[in-house]
Amino acid sequence: MPQSYDTLSAEQIAAGVRDGAFLAVEVARAALEAVEAREPEVQAFIQVTPELALAAAERIDAARAAGETLPPLAGVPLAIKDNMNLEGTRTTCASRMLESYESPYTATCAARMLKAGCLPIGKANMDEFAFGSSTDTSAFHPTNNPWDLTRVPGGSSGGSAAAVAAGMVPLALGSDTGGSIRQPAALCGVVGMKPTYGAVSRYGVVAFGSSLDQVGPFGRTVADVAAAMDALVAGGRDPYDSTSQEVAPSFAAAARGEGAVPVAGRRVGLVPAFMEAEGLTPEVRAGVERAAAALDAAGAELVEVDLPHVDAAIAAYYVIGPAEAFSNLARFDGIRYGYQEPGCTSLARQSALSRAHGFGAEAKRRQLLGAYLLSSGVYDRYYYAAQKARTLITADYARAFEQVDVILMPATPHAAFRHGEISDPTAMYLSDMYTISLNIAGNGGISVPVGLGESSGLPMAAQLVAPAFADERLIAFAAAVERGVGGAFAAGVGSPEGAVVPVPGSASVLGVAPAFAGKGGELA
Ligand code: GLN
Repeated sequence: MPQSYDTLSAEQIAAGVRDGAFLAVEVARAALEAVEAREPEVQAFIQVTPELALAAAERIDAARAAGETLPPLAGVPLAIKDNMNLEGTRTTCASRMLESYESPYTATCAARMLKAGCLPIGKANMDEFAFGSSTDTSAFHPTNNPWDLTRVPGGSSGGSAAAVAAGMVPLALGSDTGGSIRQPAALCGVVGMKPTYGAVSRYGVVAFGSSLDQVGPFGRTVADVAAAMDALVAGGRDPYDSTSQEVAPSFAAAARGEGAVPVAGRRVGLVPAFMEAEGLTPEVRAGVERAAAALDAAGAELVEVDLPHVDAAIAAYYVIGPAEAFSNLARFDGIRYGYQEPGCTSLARQSALSRAHGFGAEAKRRQLLGAYLLSSGVYDRYYYAAQKARTLITADYARAFEQVDVILMPATPHAAFRHGEISDPTAMYLSDMYTISLNIAGNGGISVPVGLGESSGLPMAAQLVAPAFADERLIAFAAAVERGVGGAFAAGVGSPEGAVVPVPGSASVLGVAPAFAGKGGELA
């Protein structure tokens, strides 16, 4: 390949394959080499799938040789979160419960990315059944943040975020029930988008909280995330997911500043209570202010908005989420799916022991909480109250969007924390204080890097929120932030100088690309 693999954006890889600058098979090999080099330290994957990647690449090269028009992401390596079924792989949800579960079919989201030409490099690590914010609850191994291997990549889609941040793949898929795309994207210095509830099909994705779950992409550039979004919505509504809606594939155009979403003259809302919240570190706040300055410079008008009931979002989420998880995970009963305790003399015992031994501590905690919250007497007090809060929070956003086109806020209150640093589950839950209300309300959100923190030297991010089904606005505004803060961590990816590799901490941690650490430092 003419250029080092991890300096190329997904867009550039697809263009190179289309134009014959390199073969898809060469790209697949380069991706697998990058995985081999970095995976021992980062551990982003549960399963690497060289056969699937090379077979997909060979099909693309053959199609090109036959003169066929290639799909838009032909030859682009992709990581897929391990709660998404992909034929030819196990889908473990990072749980002993599903350790040997073979995917019986391919999830719509994965199938659409493959149809767009992506090469499946592997299944990414995650918090068990997507319960968590650190990826430390994976039953198999933790994932390390490529910026500092002693720190978490965030979660639950931590493997997906880390694989992209480490330059192993330019694109990854994750799922977001309370922040699981946006929080790890923020902690790893990559772009991560949760589209509006219903924008992307969840068919074939193992359910956590069915009224909250949404699938979305990670990438190193906003344009790459936009291209992935176009692939995810191409083909229209998915009849296999009743919540799925028709969405126009207008994302790549929005990233280029085309379409009906110019930033100049638009109103951007800032929520004063969020910017002054206890727990928000000064460096994250400064990062969000850099994003605000970038949007101001792009001609947007900054105004204050109020979301008076959003304080209740975490409490509502930890009622609704566990209640739905308890119901969804009842299918793992030691009989129909997954781990079966051997030697049991009754079905009841088999079910009880399979669940006791198949699930880890956090998965049990959520299900026990859900069972309690749905029990008679308790139900009225908590579940109804949570649903009322949900209505009020949704109305808050609707009201705010009468005044502004997008809202800008932090994605997480703090930078990546160390493995084991947050041991109290409720303290861990606060990591999602800025992301959860969007799952409650259903709106889309995107986490976009804004440079390194001045005290930690770690990635900082801002989050943009748009009205429901105005997700192309997220892309347009995130692209303006990206341009304004100097390409942030995408420095080098897709840029003409190309010499700066988007692999963090590189010289000291991963032994490659010393130039990037210096460049990142300048952004702070
Ligand atoms: N961290 C949140 C939780 O533990 C969100 C998880 C997610 O979005 N899957 O529930």
